[in-house]
Amino acid sequence: MPSTVFFGDPRQSRLVAEETLPLKLDRILEALHLRDRVKGELVAVKMHLGGNVGYSTLHPVFVRRVVQAIKDGGGEPVVTDHAHSTLTASERGYTPETVGCPILPVAGPNEKYFYTCERPYKNIKEWGMAGLLHDATFLVDLAHAKGHPSCSYGGAFKNLALGSMISATRSAEHDTMHFDRYWFKELCRDAVQRKAIIEACPFGAMVEDQNDPEELHVHFEQCNQCGRCLRAAPAGALKIDPANFASFQEANAIAVSLTLGTFAPGKTIFINVATHITPVCDCFGFTGMPVLPDAGIFAGDDIVAVEQATLDAIGKHRLIEEHVPLSMEVQPVQGHPFQQLHGPYKDPYLVVKYGEGLGLGTRAYEIVDVMPVQKVARAPVGHISAAAL
Ligand code: SF4
Repeated sequence: MPSTVFFGDPRQSRLVAEETLPLKLDRILEALHLRDRVKGELVAVKMHLGGNVGYSTLHPVFVRRVVQAIKDGGGEPVVTDHAHSTLTASERGYTPETVGCPILPVAGPNEKYFYTCERPYKNIKEWGMAGLLHDATFLVDLAHAKGHPSCSYGGAFKNLALGSMISATRSAEHDTMHFDRYWFKELCRDAVQRKAIIEACPFGAMVEDQNDPEELHVHFEQCNQCGRCLRAAPAGALKIDPANFASFQEANAIAVSLTLGTFAPGKTIFINVATHITPVCDCFGFTGMPVLPDAGIFAGDDIVAVEQATLDAIGKHRLIEEHVPLSMEVQPVQGHPFQQLHGPYKDPYLVVKYGEGLGLGTRAYEIVDVMPVQKVARAPVGHISAAAL
């Protein structure tokens, strides 16, 4: 059975406030019955508060509407993110006054407030889950949908997968990409050839190990799987393999399943706001030009369905190539526009496939547009004589 995803279209029929995204978000919160569900709950509003001079994280106008709905319903809201973002949040306009509630570091100011969970996956033995998310009784996953260098896309899953874990676990999630071997130094003992492999990468993604010059590392965040390095490597010495890219997304899905497992059924909602869709994530601490048109707001009780619907809607558009940073390379590959930007192995749908496999929801969904755009009827244009101009 498909899950319901409520949708707010960024397009307006008329130039009135009621048709803009903040007020469509109100309608979505009504449709989700948020006010009726939070009485007496400690509600963690998990979002990314950005860093440095980023200004495309979710604007306080949206956050405040969510917080107000929670307060109206008798819940106790707390906006939360990692300490490095919360402690500087006021520099980007997020204060208790603007959002309407406390803004607290998700694992405490020094990351000492966390719980450990055992769930072996590749290099990860145990996961350090942020205490505030573990102890909250209701979760609003309020995510900005945008690009991401490791997996091409970040939305509701990534906001929790990395946002609910302490920094050591976040690093370990990234390191899953290096777990499966891709460099076989015994097949390339020639220093000149290794230098050629490194220099073949125009993105600086291929580097030499600091302690072992015979060992090469791929910075997967910078790798768009163009294959130039493979042409410079001896047969079998180097693999650019889908498995290394997929592991990060599988780790993300596992992290989300652990975090959601701490909430009772019906105590979680997921909201993706796909506006100002930048090529990389909000961790970068700056805002580039949007590389895709705004796709709107997607929300529901099923994280898999919400993410799938967001990706489908974004994927209907073409990259705005003239907005892509010149250091990046748009490849003419099949698939989602984020794959054209970050490479074919960074399939943004992997995380929802893994999430569905873990029982977190279904990829089948029905969209309910909370305020469909109305066509505006007009008579054909007339002709104005040059003399009248
Ligand atoms: S595949 Fe392309 S981007 Fe990736 S490391 Fe090789 S040369 Fe660099």
